[in-house]
Amino acid sequence: MFDPTFCTLCPRACGADRTKGVGFCGAGEKIKIARAAPHFWEEPCLSGTNGAGTVFFSGCPLHCAYCQNEKISKDAFGKEVTPERFTKILFELKAAGVHNIDLVTPMHFAPQIRAAILPVKQALGIPVVINTGGYDSPLQLSYTEGVADIYLPDYKYCDAEGAAAFSSAPDYPEVAERAIREMVRQVGAPVFDENGLLLRGVLVRHLILPGRRKESIAAIERLSRLFSPDKILLSVMSQFTPRPGALPPLDRRVTSFEARSVVDRAAALGFRGYCQQRSSAKEEFVPAFDFTGV
Ligand code: SF4
Repeated sequence: MFDPTFCTLCPRACGADRTKGVGFCGAGEKIKIARAAPHFWEEPCLSGTNGAGTVFFSGCPLHCAYCQNEKISKDAFGKEVTPERFTKILFELKAAGVHNIDLVTPMHFAPQIRAAILPVKQALGIPVVINTGGYDSPLQLSYTEGVADIYLPDYKYCDAEGAAAFSSAPDYPEVAERAIREMVRQVGAPVFDENGLLLRGVLVRHLILPGRRKESIAAIERLSRLFSPDKILLSVMSQFTPRPGALPPLDRRVTSFEARSVVDRAAALGFRGYCQQRSSAKEEFVPAFDFTGV
């Protein structure tokens, strides 16, 4: 059970009193968001022609060294909203014609999201996407069962060393694997509509980091051993963008050779899915966190 006065919701289990302050993730008691707007840079089965209805939540339990959204993830920039306003935002996105509601890094608010969405889920009538870093506990996933139609988790690392070095979370591989297993149990194999839009299922994302081609291949091979390629979709992303002043190996883009060898391995293992190109590394992927739609 979620106890806001001693929060152990996510795998960090930091024990913060969220009624008086914030936890490691930067979250207090109320839902906090930085932007809610149609977004055209998710995978084509989510963005379609009208965009995904993204809601960017403030705070994150991971704090990855290469995060592109640090302003909202680490600094927890955003605006607190009431449950009523949050629900209204979802319907405003729907009215804008989006194909789904795409909740980005929402899991530190999983209980509040369940309370807001479950009563209106049927009226909402479009798929709800839970877009997460993959570092999710069974407790968090118990709150999103019945809320999520689509899970969009990262699977960032299969090695504890990488997970410790880049996300200070050496337990990431086992946590993410357990989480993805539960996501597949909840929503099942991918289901598309007649226009190729995803209605249900799990789409796992893997971002290739520079200098970690072998670790990326190992991660994808590990996924293929854990999940039959007809049970999950895979999106291999190679658009890593170095942050100003980043230290090696995070100070350069991913090479074509690195990207191609990981994508080829994923295809050889029989994964269906997507690959986002090196040339996609543009600013449009980092939207303005300016309270649009909030
Ligand atoms: S959700 Fe946030 S406050 Fe709760 S345990 Fe995780 S990091 Fe701590």
